[in-house]
Amino acid sequence: MRSIWLRRLRRLKPRTFQARLSVAFVTVIALTLAVVSIFVVNRLDDYFTRQQEADLKERLTTVSAFVQSITTGSSRGQPVIDRDGFVAQRVLSGLEDDAVRVIADQIAQADVIVRLGVTVAVEGQAPQFLSASNGTVFLPRQAPPDPGQARERTSVTGYVAGGPVDRRYTIEVTLADPYTYRATAINNVTGLLAAIALFALGLAVVVSAALARRFTTPIRQLTDASRALAEGDLTRRVPAAQLRAGSSELGELAVQFNTMADRLAESVELIRRDRDRSRDFLADVSHELRTPLAALRTFNQLLMESAGDDPEARTEFLESSAGQIERLDWLAQNLLELSKLDSGLVLLDLRPDDLRAAVESATHQHDALARRRGVTVELDLPSTPIRIRHDPPRIGQVVANLIGNAVKFTPREGVVRVSVESTQDGARIDVTDTGVGIDASELPHIFERFYRGSRANEARGAGSGLGLAIVRSIVDMHGGTVTVESGPGTGSRFTVRLPSDPRNVAGTPAAQRAAVATAAEGSERIAAAAASDPAEAASDASQDALRNMTETSPSDSPHVNPASAP
Ligand code: ADP
Repeated sequence: MRSIWLRRLRRLKPRTFQARLSVAFVTVIALTLAVVSIFVVNRLDDYFTRQQEADLKERLTTVSAFVQSITTGSSRGQPVIDRDGFVAQRVLSGLEDDAVRVIADQIAQADVIVRLGVTVAVEGQAPQFLSASNGTVFLPRQAPPDPGQARERTSVTGYVAGGPVDRRYTIEVTLADPYTYRATAINNVTGLLAAIALFALGLAVVVSAALARRFTTPIRQLTDASRALAEGDLTRRVPAAQLRAGSSELGELAVQFNTMADRLAESVELIRRDRDRSRDFLADVSHELRTPLAALRTFNQLLMESAGDDPEARTEFLESSAGQIERLDWLAQNLLELSKLDSGLVLLDLRPDDLRAAVESATHQHDALARRRGVTVELDLPSTPIRIRHDPPRIGQVVANLIGNAVKFTPREGVVRVSVESTQDGARIDVTDTGVGIDASELPHIFERFYRGSRANEARGAGSGLGLAIVRSIVDMHGGTVTVESGPGTGSRFTVRLPSDPRNVAGTPAAQRAAVATAAEGSERIAAAAASDPAEAASDASQDALRNMTETSPSDSPHVNPASAP
């Protein structure tokens, strides 16, 4: 039974933060009001009681004096107490006279009880009456109470002595149950306090609800935004400026939340783009592979069927098959190269060699092709060496891809010019042709994988759209840039800018590896040599680490022949 009630009570407990704040605030106000009211009413009651006692005692003195004079007057010289100890009848009659009764209403403002008799004194107590069989007179208050007055259950008693020494008697006067304003005053004050408390409580409810709302609105907004984010709405943010107006801590939290949401959205977007790219890449790869494979299957079928008996047709099909196989091999090599470059598996073999050598060698690779196509390739090299840190085979691959394209897209009698020059912060390679050029709308796409332009006509068929993607990956790894200027019919100019040392370009793999290796090697060497010569060990270690990073052995770095369309 008890547990059922407890469960019910628990169910009544407010659940939301806003409700709890409101209830707590109102409870505190209610408790404060209750304590203050009880204290005030109590003190007021004490004060009235004391006032009333003092007032009653004052009246008692007056009434006692009056009763004494009446007693003396009505005894008319005779003893007030007779020999048997009884009060004389005329004294009692005198006290019960109507003219005397008015003292209850007019002086005492309470019931008056008068007792006459002989008393003995008892130490520490009121005098004890020896005989009082007929010595008590009751003079009740007769007038009705004034509006607001009420009878008070209290009394005061006083004693006065009278009579000669041998006939001593005592007059006991008691004022009982007076009419007072105390109860009414207390009731009025209590009522007023209750009204004030009710008003204050109402105000507290309104204020606490408003305050709690002000506190909890930002939290609710944060909760809503988190929920939206969790449900996949990555655009949802919390209005931080609004929250800061409420409380700076919550504003700070909102700013942090928004930053986190921004990062999350960026990451998701990056992953999405990466996924889309991978999907497109896979689709493109399958498409590229399907064409040569379909051709091979057809040749094979034809050879197995009728064409197999015809030596001329057989030779032609076998030659075509060899061409397709070569193309498949070339495609596979380029794809492998590109995926290695993208995955970061390729470590550049950076050497401070003469850049002219790599460019010259790459240019000569295309001599035969250019001659066949009737295109002149001009090489313009400076007379002095250009020593920048680079990976010679890979830069050779970049130049070879650019020259391969230039030759491919330049008609007979055209010219392809290759030039190298030293710049302030590295070197620059230009491959210029007088070929078909590229439409402005296609320029932003030519470095994308598998992208092939529309103006390239029959030459497009020879490419795979991977050459420039490889060029850009290699140049990026060197911390350089590749740009193109071109227009339809005016030829194209591809410009590659390389820094003098890729390790100094923030963000390149070489710079990252150099930093990591310097830290690791440095701390290892410093620890090992600290005992012998600490200063020398530290400087040696950092220099060696840098050297190690750049001069990886050639066998570590995968090398693929420059991509050129077969
Ligand atoms: P591909 O291996 O097919 O040549 P690339 O990535 O090297 O692929 O080139 C992509 C596209 O860029 C080509 O299909 C062509 O449209 C355009 N392109 C590249 N180089 C040149 C150039 N020198 N002249 C004209 N168009 C070019």
